[in-house]
Amino acid sequence: MAFTEKVKYVIRKKALQRCCICHNIGVEIHHIIPQAENGPDTLENGAPLCPSCHETYGANKTKRKFIKEARDIWYEICEKRYSYSEKRFDNIESTLSDIKAILSKNFNFNETIISQKKYLTFGEIVAFYHNQTDANEIGFKVCYELIFSTFGDENNKEDMLFNEFRDVFVEIFGILLAEKVVNYSVKSSKIDWNKGFTEPELNSIFNVCYINMLILFMQLDNDSEIEKLGATLTEDNNDLLYSIIK
Ligand SMILES: [Zn+2]
Repeated sequence: MAFTEKVKYVIRKKALQRCCICHNIGVEIHHIIPQAENGPDTLENGAPLCPSCHETYGANKTKRKFIKEARDIWYEICEKRYSYSEKRFDNIESTLSDIKAILSKNFNFNETIISQKKYLTFGEIVAFYHNQTDANEIGFKVCYELIFSTFGDENNKEDMLFNEFRDVFVEIFGILLAEKVVNYSVKSSKIDWNKGFTEPELNSIFNVCYINMLILFMQLDNDSEIEKLGATLTEDNNDLLYSIIK
C-alpha cells in the first residue's frame, strides 16, 4: 500500500509544503515505520521530508523518534504562524494603506486610470496567476525564501509590517497562489540566475512580488469606492499592467 492522495495532501498542507527537518520547500511523504515493517499509511505514520533529508534520515532506524519529533514541532510552528486571527483581519485595511505608502516610495505605479470595463476581476487575476508556468528554479527558491521565510529586522517597522502582510496573504490565498505569484515575479525579471544576482536586483523582484500580492488583496472587494490598485493585461495577454484605479 501507499499513502492516499488525500493523506499526502493533508500532510503537505500541515507542513506548508516544507520539510520538517530542514524546512526546505518540496516534500515527499515518508513512512516513519517503514512499509516493510507494516507501517500504516496514516497521518500519524507520515512525515514530510525533502528528497535530501529523506535520503539522509529516511532509512535510519535510530532517527525515527527524531523525525517524529521534528514533524510535530514543525506542524505546531506552521499552525501558529498562520493561525486565523480576527484582530489581524480587522487591521488589514490600515496595514494595506501603510504598505502602499512605503511601496510608492520605491515603485513607479502606472497612474493611468483603467476604465471600469477594462480592469480584471478578482477571479480573472487569480486565474492569470494560476496559469503561470514555473520560473527558473534558483530564482524561485531565492525569491520564495526572501518573501515568505525571512523574518527581517525585529526593530524595523517596515520589516515587521511586511511579515504581518505576507502571513495574512498566505492565510487568505494559500501557499499555492503564493508560489504562483513568486513564479510570475521571477519570470518578469531579466536576471540571469545562473550567473548570480545583486541586492538591487533582488529588491526590485521583492517589490514586484509585493505589488502582485497587493493586487490580489485590492481586488478582493471590487465594488468599493476607495482608491485601489487594479490590473489589466497587455495586448499579448502575457503580462499584467498595474494601475491605481480612481
Ligand atoms: Zn529536508
